[in-house]
Amino acid sequence: MRGFPFFLLILFSSYLFSQTSNDELVEVKEIIPDIVLDLRYNTTNNFVHQKLYSTDVCLLSYGAVKGLKAVQDSLRKLGLGLKIFDGYRPRAIQWLLWEIFPNPIYVADPATGSKHNRGGAVDLTIVNLSTGQQLDMGTDFDHFGPEAGHDYTNLPPDVLQNRAFLKSMMQNVGGFIPYTSEWWHYDYPPGSSYPLLDFQMK
Ligand SMILES: [Zn+2]
Repeated sequence: MRGFPFFLLILFSSYLFSQTSNDELVEVKEIIPDIVLDLRYNTTNNFVHQKLYSTDVCLLSYGAVKGLKAVQDSLRKLGLGLKIFDGYRPRAIQWLLWEIFPNPIYVADPATGSKHNRGGAVDLTIVNLSTGQQLDMGTDFDHFGPEAGHDYTNLPPDVLQNRAFLKSMMQNVGGFIPYTSEWWHYDYPPGSSYPLLDFQMK
C-alpha cells in the first residue's frame, strides 16, 4: 500500500458505498467489522438440523446494514454488540424450510417470500463484545413456542429487560420493527418493497 495515501483509500471506499442503493445486498462485516456472526443455517445447530448454507458471509440490504451500524455504534459504548443468526436468505432455502416446517407463524410462505429473501430482515441478539457471552433472552434462536414471543411475560425480570433493551435499540436507534412471535427477528420497513432474491451464496 506504499505510495497510496491512506486518506485516499478511505475516500475511495466511502465513495463506493455512497454509490450503493439501499436495496442492494452488501456484506455486513465490511461495514460493521466487529459485528459477531453465528450463522445457524451454516451449521446443523438449527431447527431443521441441516446445514443449509455453505457460506460464512452474511449479506443484508445496504439500508438495513446502515440501521444495524447505528445500533452497533451505540452498543459498543457499553461494551456490547450485535450477534447475527441469519440475514439475507436465498428463496430456494425458504422453500426448503417451508417443506420441513410449513407453519406461517414461524416460516414465511415462499410463494409470497420472507423479508429475509429481500435482505430486509435480520435475526439477532446482543453479546458482550469482550467475552462473546450472549445476553439471556430466555429461549434459543428459532425456539418455536409462545415463550419466544414479545407478549410472553412469564420470564425472569432480567430476561424481560434484555428483550426490551434489544427491542428499544433496534426500534429507536436502528429504525427496525419487531416481530411479535420471535424476540430475535427484526424487519427493516423499506425492505418490504425490495425485490425477492434467489442469489446463491457460495
Ligand atoms: Zn427471521
